[in-house]
Parts: sequence; C-alpha cells; structure tokens
Amino acid sequence: MIAAGQVYGRRRLDLLARPVIGRFLHWRHARTALQVPLLVVAGLVVFDGLFGPQLAPKNLATVGVWLHYRGLVVLALLAAGNLFCMACPFMLPRRFGRWLRERWLAGGRPTPALLRSKWPAVVLLVVFFYSYEYFALWASPWLTAWIAVGYFVAAFVVDTLFRGATFCKRICPLGQFNFLGSLVSPLEIAVRRPETCAACRTRDCIQTRAATRARGCELALFQPRKVGNMDCTFCLDCVHACPHDNIGLIGRLPTAELWSDPYRSGIGRFSQRRDLAALVVVLTFGAFVNALAMIRPIYELQGWLPGFAARAPWLGLVFLIGLGVLPVTLLSAAGFVSRGLGGETGVTVWASVRRYLLALAPLAFGMWLAHYAFHFLTGALTITPVVQSFLADLGVSGVQPYWGWGPLVPADWLFPIEAFFLYLGAFGSAVAVFQIARRHIGEGNLEARRRVLGAALPWLALCLLLLAAGLWIMTQPMEMRGTFVLSSVH
Ligand code: SF4
Ligand code: SF4
Repeated sequence: MIAAGQVYGRRRLDLLARPVIGRFLHWRHARTALQVPLLVVAGLVVFDGLFGPQLAPKNLATVGVWLHYRGLVVLALLAAGNLFCMACPFMLPRRFGRWLRERWLAGGRPTPALLRSKWPAVVLLVVFFYSYEYFALWASPWLTAWIAVGYFVAAFVVDTLFRGATFCKRICPLGQFNFLGSLVSPLEIAVRRPETCAACRTRDCIQTRAATRARGCELALFQPRKVGNMDCTFCLDCVHACPHDNIGLIGRLPTAELWSDPYRSGIGRFSQRRDLAALVVVLTFGAFVNALAMIRPIYELQGWLPGFAARAPWLGLVFLIGLGVLPVTLLSAAGFVSRGLGGETGVTVWASVRRYLLALAPLAFGMWLAHYAFHFLTGALTITPVVQSFLADLGVSGVQPYWGWGPLVPADWLFPIEAFFLYLGAFGSAVAVFQIARRHIGEGNLEARRRVLGAALPWLALCLLLLAAGLWIMTQPMEMRGTFVLSSVH
C-alpha cells in the first residue's frame, strides 16, 4: 500500500493510505459493516412510521428522515463526499436482486433504452418535490415509512431485472442528489499512479473476474478515464478489484472538476448531456422552490391570488414557474448575453448554456445545505426524546421523554450559518464561471481577457440573483417542520 505523500511526488491526502481508516475501508466487508446498521435504522424507521405515534415530531420516521438523514447527508457531502451511497441500506436488497439475477435469470437484461439516461431520475425528482409539498410528507410518519418501503422494493426489482447498477445510476433520486452534491466534495475515488494504469492489461477495475470474485465498477466508470465524482457511489468495488492497489480516496480542490469538460468514462462530456443539464436545472432551481414553499410570504401570496386556494393548482403554478418558466428565461438570457459579450458567435445559445450550467452546482448545493442545515440545527436534539419514546412504547425503557430538546444551536446563530453556506456556494460558482470562460476563450491578450470577463458577467449576475433570492428566503418566517415549534421568525 502506498502512503500519502508518495503520489506524483507531492503531498496528497489519500484516506485509503491512512493507517486506521484505510485498513478498515480495504476490508472486503467494510461496506456491509456500514450498511447493516443503517438497514436496522431503516427497519426501525419503517416500523415506527407504520405503527408508532402519527405526530411528526414524535415519530422516528419523520424526525429521522426529514431532519437527520437530510442534514447529515449534506454535511457529509460538504466535509468528505458521497458517504451516504457508500453506506446505503438500499444496496442490500439490490445485492440480493443481483444474486438472484446472476443465478436464476441468466445474468439479467441490459438496461432498457428508456432507462439509459438521467431522464427517469429527472422526472422522479420533480414528482418527489411536488409530492413532498402536496402530501406534506414531512408531517406524515405513515407516508414516510411507505416511501422507504417503496425504495427497498424499487431497488430490488430494478436490479433483479437489469444489469449495470440501473437503479443507482439512472433512477434513484437520492443518488442523483448525492452525485450533484459530491461535485463540490473534497474527496474522490481516483487512480494513484496513471503510469500503472497505462501498463495494466487486465483492467480488473471495470470488469468482474470469476477467479477472484472481485467485481469491477458496475456504474461503468473506468478508472484511468474516470473524472470527478459524477455517478460514483463510493462503493469501493474498484478498490477491491484493482490488483495493483492503484486506487485511492484522494483529496482534491472542491469544484475543480467543474472547470473543464473532458470526456468522462461512463458519462461522456457534461456539455453534451441534455439529461444531465435537466438534472442540474431541477436540482438547482428545485433548491429554491423547495425552500420557498415553506415561507410565510408564499402562503400569503396563495391566499391573495384568486383561483388558487386549492393546494394542487397552487403548487402546479409554483412548480411551473420555479422549474420551468424561470430557469428557461434566466438561463437563456444568461447564455445569450454571455455568448454576445464573449464573442462566441459560433455556438448556439443552448450550447453556451450547457457550457456554464454546471457552474451553478456549488450555489445549488449551498442552498440545499443552508435549507437542510436549518432543519437539522433547529431539531437535531429531538432525536433523544423520540428514541426514548420509541423505546418506552416497545416496553424496553421506562425513561420519561423530555420534549423540550430540539435546537442544536441558539436561534440567532441560524441565519449567519445559512448565509455562510450560501456565500460559500456562490463563491464556488463564481470561480467555476471564470474558469469555464477562461478555458473556452483563452486569456492571452487584453482583448481575450475582456471577452472572458464579458462571457462570465451574465453568469455572475445570475449567481448574484440566486444568492440574493436564497438570502431573502432564509430571512423569511419559516415553518420549522418536524419540530414542536410550528413557525419561527429568525
Ligand atoms: S485502476 Fe487498477 S485495474 Fe484499473 S486500469 Fe488502473 S491498474 Fe488496472
Ligand atoms: S466501483 Fe465505480 S462507483 Fe464504486 S467507487 Fe469505484 S468508481 Fe466509484
């Protein structure tokens, strides 16, 4: 095993080369050891959701899923990477499905054409965002439990029928969210020594070898040509498969993978993937729509507009504007002006949009982070009385729950923390915009620099607009979903 510091002659963090964590992650059953506890937690969540108290702040399903799971996922993405996919409990039924497929279904079928893109995930994400508001999922332990059950069933059925990790790569909305978030993460699975791959003839990291039972990457990410974190579930299959111990969990500059658009194994070029562009649009503007839907001015606007008293048409209007009209208008305007000021007349407006679109990912993630951190920080300690109550209901413990537990930080810390995440995201997006403009236009002379600035300006203006929208949303009276406090002004 190589040590951190030997890679390319300069010091790079490689978690797989660290003494304790590296040894653990190299262990063949490390992932199972992470998944099983989460499977137990998921089982308890489903049980309490179906049979426990149907008051959201008292139930493990609603508190565990909508406060803790979401908060911890975004914090893990910020601090490390796609750790949830690494420990995902839905992988266990998936793995059973794969075993059935390989044993009884002649290896299964290839992914059908209809599922060979991110479009199914885009549709599912929109349906999920709409359903979350329409059915008030955060307030329904019963529905939350059924969503978890549906997830297990879907992962099992899809991966029993089809090869190629179809569920993770093409369908799972949580996975797509994690893929987008991990674009700004500080760690990635990457090769340690490119020259070792150049001399490698077996390519075990991409194919399954019956002799060793080592499984290459199911998501079709071939290490020598893998770039960044998109589609990588941190499953470590490639790490176990590589006979040269040439794959690490390596530190990198967050957002740097957005600055260029090389051909990526298993993905292609970002700028040529319309489905990926749609995914980024939904997750970027969805971050704002999702937070907007829980602030008081939106409820007041609904009451003020005639004909939208019912929830379904009102949400339909919000989603149509938030995920359709606004993105199309803002992105095409930014693309059009950027193309003109940058002197890039040879490309269409939408080709220009797709060049810069990924640069919005850090800001989008900043908005999700600010939003989910708000819920987590206002309700994290609720888990203590919820678990006490759950154990008391089972007759395991007689401790009286104290329902006064809730916030993790004082209320006046919330907005500074949210604002910090938003500014951090905006900074990451601004850097990415400049780097993309530089790459396309070059920066040799004064005229080139002027064009770089011109091409970047409309996108920087859009980032500022989204930043201002995010800050405004976070200053509004907001429902404190999943806690005993119904609303707050902070
Ligand atoms: S990562 Fe390992 S198995 Fe894959 S090409 Fe490189 S050396 Fe070969
Ligand atoms: S096998 Fe594929 S998905 Fe898993 S960690 Fe390696 S590159 Fe990522």
